[in-house]
Amino acid sequence: MIISIALTDGKTLNLKIKKSKRAKKPSIIADIQGLQAIIPSNYEVNDLMELVQQKSNWILKSSRYYERLRSRYAQEHLKANTICFLGNRYCLRIIKDRLSFAVVSENLNMITFHVTNKRMFKDDIFKWYSNETAKIINTRLPLIASKLDIRYNNFFIKRHKSKWGSCSMKRNLNFNALLSAAPSDVIDYVIIHELVHVIESNHSRQFWDRVRTADPLYKDHRKWLRTYGSLVSIERINLERQTNVE
Ligand SMILES: [Zn+2]
Repeated sequence: MIISIALTDGKTLNLKIKKSKRAKKPSIIADIQGLQAIIPSNYEVNDLMELVQQKSNWILKSSRYYERLRSRYAQEHLKANTICFLGNRYCLRIIKDRLSFAVVSENLNMITFHVTNKRMFKDDIFKWYSNETAKIINTRLPLIASKLDIRYNNFFIKRHKSKWGSCSMKRNLNFNALLSAAPSDVIDYVIIHELVHVIESNHSRQFWDRVRTADPLYKDHRKWLRTYGSLVSIERINLERQTNVE
């Protein structure tokens, strides 16, 4: 559900409300998609207004920040017939063929997917992302792990909804299949983040100290994920039939 918050300047802000079984207390998140409140399942929406009041300055400030960001970047990133790969936007072309494969052309700034069933093109795109991510993790993970002297068990590529990575008790690392959409230094940051979880399970001070040592620019890389992360999604890929589907 969505509630509207009236601002002192006469404008209104939309706050999307999501119930979560895992949430212990309500929280408000601002990102490029807008404002979202995550509340425990037994929490009353009316009680949320108190939190909104308390945080009204922050809500206003961050909404304005993301609104500016949205108008500047999101338009480009949400354009039809485009796809993000290694941090760059490419034109996307879907062509019906007898075999499924993808061709990345740096010169044309275009990724062409040859697909056997045009209606299922999103499945092909997902598989392609998944393969590309696996290839990258397969090369970068052992290198970074030996540099940091951290031993992991195995890695898996997962269809995560919102997480970029996770680390299990058995020292298995999981990575989001869409991670190859991110720039390579951001991918390295996610690898570092999950590897450090092998030795520090919480986001403690020590955790971030270790991450910083391994990746001094980790704050920028987190920012990339916060800003663009939610724009990287298969669902969001849309095609304008007239121009690109043949
Ligand atoms: Zn973490």
